[in-house]
Amino acid sequence: MQSRGKKTSHLDLLCDIGDLTDLLVSSMSVDNFLQRAVEMVARYLDTDACSIYLYDEASAELSLAATTGLVSGAVNRLRLKAGEGIVGRCFQSLKPVCEGRASSSPETMLFGETNGERFNSFLVVPIHRGAVKIGALVVEHVREDVFEETEIMALRAASSQLASSIENARLIMQVNRDAAPSSAPRPDLPGGPIKAGTASEGFAYAPVSVYRRNIPVPLTEVPPGDDHTTLEDFRRAIDATAGQLQELQAMFAKRLPESASLIFTTHFMMLKDESFVGKMARLIEEGVGPMSAVSQISGHYASLFLSNPHEYVREKANDVEDLTMRILRNLKDRERTGTQTRHRRIIIADRLYPSDVLKLVANDVQGIIMVGGGVTAHISILSRSLKIPLLLADQPELMNVPEDTPVLMDAYVGTIYIKPTARVVKGFQTRENTRRAAQQKSRHIRGETKTRDGEKVQLMANINLLSEVPLARELKAQGVGLYRTEFPFLIRSAFPSETEQYLVYRKLFDQMKGRTVTVRTLDVGGEKVISYLDLPPENNPELGMRSIRFSLDHREIFDTQIRAILRAASGARAARIMFPMISSLDEFLEARGIVRECMGALEKEGLDFNGKPAIGMMVELPSLVDIMDDLAKEADFFSIGTNDFIQYMLAVDRSNKRVSRYYAAHHPAVLRGLAKVADAALRSGREIAVCGEMAHETAHLPFLLGIGIRQLSVDPQFLPSLHESVSRIRVADAREYARELLALPAIRDVQAAMEDPAWKETFGRA
Ligand code: PEP
Ligand code: MG
Repeated sequence: MQSRGKKTSHLDLLCDIGDLTDLLVSSMSVDNFLQRAVEMVARYLDTDACSIYLYDEASAELSLAATTGLVSGAVNRLRLKAGEGIVGRCFQSLKPVCEGRASSSPETMLFGETNGERFNSFLVVPIHRGAVKIGALVVEHVREDVFEETEIMALRAASSQLASSIENARLIMQVNRDAAPSSAPRPDLPGGPIKAGTASEGFAYAPVSVYRRNIPVPLTEVPPGDDHTTLEDFRRAIDATAGQLQELQAMFAKRLPESASLIFTTHFMMLKDESFVGKMARLIEEGVGPMSAVSQISGHYASLFLSNPHEYVREKANDVEDLTMRILRNLKDRERTGTQTRHRRIIIADRLYPSDVLKLVANDVQGIIMVGGGVTAHISILSRSLKIPLLLADQPELMNVPEDTPVLMDAYVGTIYIKPTARVVKGFQTRENTRRAAQQKSRHIRGETKTRDGEKVQLMANINLLSEVPLARELKAQGVGLYRTEFPFLIRSAFPSETEQYLVYRKLFDQMKGRTVTVRTLDVGGEKVISYLDLPPENNPELGMRSIRFSLDHREIFDTQIRAILRAASGARAARIMFPMISSLDEFLEARGIVRECMGALEKEGLDFNGKPAIGMMVELPSLVDIMDDLAKEADFFSIGTNDFIQYMLAVDRSNKRVSRYYAAHHPAVLRGLAKVADAALRSGREIAVCGEMAHETAHLPFLLGIGIRQLSVDPQFLPSLHESVSRIRVADAREYARELLALPAIRDVQAAMEDPAWKETFGRA
């Protein structure tokens, strides 16, 4: 390319810039591409300086990425906030900014270390692709008032030609930085609080670890000179690791009986595997340092898992990482056995399975921040059951928080602080202590739950893990209105056998001592993924082979579960079996038929079982609303799962944050559907409960009581507040209120009625 005069042809400039795209593809260096681009623009427009600034989402800053004319040492060091100086202003507004006498402008560009102060004319145009803001392109001149409309047009055209290449460059730089987290400079994260949604309440302050799925395991590179351990140390480290895993397993057997011993299966098998530990030992015998030997073989293992086409196999790479970290830690801290890596941390993750949560519990996880909406309802439910604070954040830059950074998460109000100041931490800790003390005091439930005008309301507990039963009993739950049996399945790495299931269910019946226990059959599929099942992917999993459909399609799994429930319920006075996601009478009859067949088989085998459980169903699909009278002739009881009822009634994925504003429990169709369902059940003399989240939401309680609901099943921690709320409401008022709501046509009308101060006062919610 030849140097041109100031008034160069714009056409030439654009053609040459188009060529730069090829240059990017063939070039190994992204920096070099950007450098050539600025040099070319400076040459064509005959300017004294030209620079490209790229926007870094992680730090919300513009960073100088390439320059000709400014001090080259400022590249990657000069950073401007969006809106700061004329570069930041142009970037934010997406409009060109032209200054002819910048030295007299109050808004100079903070160019202290880049000798920028000697320039007087500035022209800045944004680099963007549609709404995607990429950065800014700047040209400068020492002389005053140099740039005119022609230059503005030329630079804008250049910027738009360059935009997609520069965006690629930015992505590549980002990937490189992510691939080498330890050596690359980390972007600064916002100092103030970051907003997040709460999925499980709580408070935590701890160092952080970022947990990525299916990313090659970042195993430690140990320079040979730094490794002073021996083959004997290695063998000791393996023994210590096996010992620690056994201890953890014993701890789990107590805390989470339903997980039994299966959480660490992969770990134990690898410790026994000759091609894992054996190969490491042989490498050490050949002179390789033990730490390098462990890293090499583990890395090989992890990449084998990662290259497998099945997701559930790829997942095992995380087990390899976990095990390797334990071995390395035991090798390093020869005398400090028992210390685990990633212990007592806050975990930031973009995707987790329920079984991952358990492994995190094994490391005494303090809190979890899920980034980017990859959370399933079951991760939320499990975290609540395990009392782990869980926040859902939208900011992908959280995945870049460096290991060990102190993080405070307040999952009561939904805020995250990265590196909080001592004052912030102290303030939160004091508040947390006060809250705990208040919670202890308010836990007393006095007698039965009755409305203000004396009608009894039965409060029951939703149980996911057996460890929640003591709290449910302490808070006087009158029974278990929903036991989600999928949890023992979700948190294991293989199907539990009939005996294993029997033992879990038996504990539940025993602990509830004669009170009602409603066992819901397996509700998997959709977002409730059982990773070891390896089912074919579905385009619409929520509408696919899930829940009762899955059970009816896998008779051996269904029979095993039904047999285990019937046997465990032997002798129980009030045992109930409930089918999830029933869509028709036919489906209910088929499922009930199987229960009866199982009874026949158990009878023949001479085993003890409960021959008279109540058999009922969840009401979760809109298709049931108009056939309730027919269902009520067959089903012994109903329980409305409002979580799914709303999801299916309104076609809104309950775990998709992007559509969460459409998920409206107070939609007139939802309210009228609920009223019809309750009315049909009550007219037929059938028990009807609500067991979805709506049951504990105070704002919806008057409506539910108003349509005749007298059984509510909620997570145990909500029992005290629900007891209080019920006792403030008069049934007569609730009926009138429900009538009013049911006559309203639009969501916003219902919203207005719910927020009406007069109604709020009537129900003690002022
Ligand atoms: C529901 O759908 O409301 C329900 C209680 O079931 P789950 O949340 O387990 O789907
Ligand atoms: Mg459901």
